[in-house]
Amino acid sequence: MANNTVIDIAIIGGGIAGLWTLARLRQAGYQALLFEADRLGGVQSGASQGIIHGGTKYALTGKLTHSAQSIQKMPQRWKACLDGKGEVDLRQAKKLSKHQYLWSNKSLASKITGFFASKVMTSRMQHLSMKDYVAPFNQTEFNGELYQLDEPVLDIQSVIETLREQFSDCIYEGHVEEITQKKNTSSYQIIFSNQKIVLTAHTMILTAGSGNENLLNSLHLEQPKMQRRPLLMPMLKAKENILPKMYAHCLGASALPKMTITAHQLSDEQVVWYLGGEIAEQGVGRSTEKQVQCAKKELQSLMPWMDFSLCQWSALAIDRAEPEMSDGSRPVEPAIFRCNQVITAWPVKLAMAPIMVDKIIEELELLGIEKNSPTLPQDIQTVDSMSPAQTTLLPWEKVQHWLR
Ligand SMILES: Cc1cc2nc3c(=O)[nH]c(=O)nc-3n(C[C@H](O)[C@H](O)[C@H](O)COP(=O)(O)OP(=O)(O)OC[C@H]3O[C@@H](n4cnc5c(N)ncnc54)[C@H](O)[C@@H]3O)c2cc1C
Repeated sequence: MANNTVIDIAIIGGGIAGLWTLARLRQAGYQALLFEADRLGGVQSGASQGIIHGGTKYALTGKLTHSAQSIQKMPQRWKACLDGKGEVDLRQAKKLSKHQYLWSNKSLASKITGFFASKVMTSRMQHLSMKDYVAPFNQTEFNGELYQLDEPVLDIQSVIETLREQFSDCIYEGHVEEITQKKNTSSYQIIFSNQKIVLTAHTMILTAGSGNENLLNSLHLEQPKMQRRPLLMPMLKAKENILPKMYAHCLGASALPKMTITAHQLSDEQVVWYLGGEIAEQGVGRSTEKQVQCAKKELQSLMPWMDFSLCQWSALAIDRAEPEMSDGSRPVEPAIFRCNQVITAWPVKLAMAPIMVDKIIEELELLGIEKNSPTLPQDIQTVDSMSPAQTTLLPWEKVQHWLR
C-alpha cells in the first residue's frame, strides 16, 4: 500500500462547502487537496434549488437574529463572484434568474400588508404592480400580490463545474472510510475504501455533509453532533409553453413558504419545476405516487389558472445535514467546530458557504498553518493514481421513470 504523500490540508467532501473551501484556501496560498466519494455536488448541493438567500425566509419566520443578518450580504457576495470581482471566480457559472419572487393570494395578502410594509421587509423585497408581473402571474386570473426579492437563483451544476475546472489538479475521487490520528504525532492518516493508498495530512477539514457523522465516529470524536432533516421534493416536467420558467415562494398561512418553485432546463427542451417548502417537509414518509398526487392537488389549488394535465412527475427523497441544535430547531447560520487539527463544517445553506469558509480561515490562521508550501505536495504521483472527480448530474437527470 503506497503511503508516502503528506498533505498540509485534506478537505473531505466535494459539495459547495468543500469546493468553496478549496478555492479560498488555494487563493490564500495554502496547500490543500480535496477528496470526494462520488460525484462533486452529488448529494445536497446538486439537489438544492440554487436560491441565494438574503435572509427573507428568516425574516418571515422571525428568526433574523443579529448574527443571521450577515446572510443579508450573501446575494451581493455571490453576485461579485459571478461578475469576476469576488473571492471566488464564478464567471462561468450560469444564473437562472436575477430574482426570486414571492406571491400570496388576495385574502392572505391583505392580512399581512402591514408586515410587508415594515422596514425589515421593504429592504428585502419590492412590491410589483401588475404591469411588471412575470409569467405565470401575468394572467388576469391571478388575483394575488407579487413581490420581487433581491435573491438570485443559480444553476448549481455550473457553479460546481466551474470550481472543478479551476482546481482539477487537486480534486480526487476517493471515498474516505476512516481517519485516524497517527500515534505521537499531530497528523492524520486517511484511509480510502476504494483506493489502495493511505495519505497523511496535518490538518483535516470535514465538509462531507451527512458523511461527516461517520468520519467523526472514525476519529472517536463525540462532538459535534449532526442532525438530518428529511425532504421529499416533488418535480414535474413539460414543454416551456406549459411550465414557464418561474422562481417563487408561495406564502401560506404560516411563515414557512407553502411551496418554493424553481425552474430548470432539461436537455430535451423541457422545463422541470422543482418544488420545495412545506410540501417537501410534509411529504416525508409518503410514497412517490402519494407525494405526486398531493403536489398535483396543491399546485392546482395555488395556480388554478394553469393546466398541469400534460406534465410528468417524480419526487426526490433527500436529507439536509446540519449541526445538531440543542433545542431540536433548524439552524440559521453556518457552523464550524475544531478539535485539535480537525475542523468540521456545515454551511446549513448553500448561500452561506462564504461565511462558513471565513470561519474556517480564521481557525487556520489561529493554528498558524503554513501558507507558502508548494501548491501540490511532494510525491503527488501516489495520489495521481486516483481518478479525478466529476461533476454530478442533477436530480431530474437521474429520474428513470416519470409518472403521469
Ligand atoms: C432539496 C434541498 C434544497 C435546498 N435548496 C437550497 C437553496 O435553494 N439555497 C440554499 O442556500 N440552500 C439550499 N439547500 C441547502 C444546501 O443545499 C446545503 O446546505 C448545502 O448544499 C450543503 O453543502 P455541503 O457541501 O455541506 O454538503 P453536500 O452537498 O451534501 O456535499 C457533501 C459531499 O461530501 C461527500 N462525502 C460524504 N462522505 C464522504 C466520504 N466519506 N469521503 C469523501 N466524500 C464524502 C458527498 O458525496 C458529497 O458530495 C437545500 C438543500 C436541499 C436538500
